[in-house]
Amino acid sequence: MRSHLLNDTTTEHYRRSVTRGVERVAATLAATDRPFTGITPQALAPRIDAIDLDRPLGDTTAALDELESVYLRDAVYFHHPRYLAHLNCPVVIPAVTAEAVLSAVNSSLDTWDQSAGATLIERRLVDWTAARLGLGPRADGVFTSGGTQSNLQALLLARDEALAAGADPARLRVLASECGHFSVQKSAALLGLPAGAVVTVPCDAGKRMRTDALAAELERCAREGLTPMAVVATAGTTDFGSVDPLPAIAALCGRHRVWLHVDAAYGCGLLVSRTRRHLLNGIEHADSVTVDFHKSFFQPVSSSAVLVRDAATLRHATHHSDYLNPRRAVAERIPNQVDKSLQTTRRFDALKLWMTLRVMGAEGVGELFDEVLDLAERGWLMLDADPRFEVVTRPTLSTLVFRWIPPESDAVTAAGTSAAVAPAGTSAVTPADVDRANLQARKALAASGEAVVAGTTVHGRHHLKFTLLNPVTTTDDIAAVLDLIAGHAARCLNLGETLAHAS
Ligand SMILES: *Cc1c(COP(=O)(O)O)cnc(C)c1O
Repeated sequence: MRSHLLNDTTTEHYRRSVTRGVERVAATLAATDRPFTGITPQALAPRIDAIDLDRPLGDTTAALDELESVYLRDAVYFHHPRYLAHLNCPVVIPAVTAEAVLSAVNSSLDTWDQSAGATLIERRLVDWTAARLGLGPRADGVFTSGGTQSNLQALLLARDEALAAGADPARLRVLASECGHFSVQKSAALLGLPAGAVVTVPCDAGKRMRTDALAAELERCAREGLTPMAVVATAGTTDFGSVDPLPAIAALCGRHRVWLHVDAAYGCGLLVSRTRRHLLNGIEHADSVTVDFHKSFFQPVSSSAVLVRDAATLRHATHHSDYLNPRRAVAERIPNQVDKSLQTTRRFDALKLWMTLRVMGAEGVGELFDEVLDLAERGWLMLDADPRFEVVTRPTLSTLVFRWIPPESDAVTAAGTSAAVAPAGTSAVTPADVDRANLQARKALAASGEAVVAGTTVHGRHHLKFTLLNPVTTTDDIAAVLDLIAGHAARCLNLGETLAHAS
């Protein structure tokens, strides 16, 4: 069994084994013609259940053969140009190389004595990100497992700053827009904030936080003796890619002395955009920022960070332990990242971004992100001109939220009037039917494996969503997927092929 331990005597086995794994993935990618096979959990589960985990195969090739049938063949492939669903990007090769390096060396970023250079590399990248954000000379931060953890940590710091200033825990409030990420609610619960502590601020038609409504809420809190411990603005909402008006929100936070957290999990790619960096203007006023490199920097999961304007606020995450990071290490200026993190043992995810920047450069990443933003603009023009669909907002980033509508159904709108229409030769189509058709179209599409799209609800009605993060996707792909959706939706309502292609 010692031959399986990675060390100085097993480097040949290591090379062969990892190479086999890489070759298997390469062969799979080369042969993949769909983003998904459409397999159901019911069909896949028995194959996985049938494997006897107490009877090892003893051999990499045999294990990879088995993996083919339980995972690789039916995985969901984000690199495929017709994977248009969630905020998953295709990954860049330098980052995948880094992934192989970091797991083989297996540094742990909690302490200097478990990582050495890895700690300094992570710190350089934190400084690099903070500088791109414009957070100023006292900024700091730490890598995290994802936007959810980054948001949780930011709100923990904001809460503890408020408590340190004497706030009553029962009167703490967090103000977030109705389009903000659900991890804000989850964090509030984990942080023990009172029920109803998250106050929802409405959005305008462009799905951006309404600053007049935010101002009114801040004034109401002041009147009622409540303490807004944070305003959460979003730079790139998950559904609409909308960017809240950061300068105006920052001004309000400044006036009311409220912690401003900007959730740029999705929008952080703008930091390296050649054409659209200005969309993040105002982010430099944030007290904390969430960035997800695994959303818009083409990095493999996980790679995220939370950045703060004032390094001193990270003390709320600091706890000392004699065995790991004793107080004296601080006096000796030993850089222990665990002092800043919610995690203890922690992956060297930062290496992926490091290798990406060293091979491609920031502008290289920005170029790829700009390409998907351009594609989203062209996709919007197509949808806007297509009578088979109605589209909710013009994209700022790279999502398109839309729904299929039956032909000649002016009465059936996104607002969901109860009017029913009856195209010639069909029975009346109700808004509920249109909901069903959109839902069914998404399911049928996934089952066919020809494309994967997401869904969401807008004004109580089912919509479909494209999240475009693949520079390889073309407008032809978008057109083809729209035709497939229209076909499935029309079939669901028995409208037939002719009407589906009525445009
Ligand atoms: C994806 C997302 C998150 C959560 O990030 P994870 O990395 O999935 O944990 C938070 N906020 C926004 C706006 C997001 O889009």
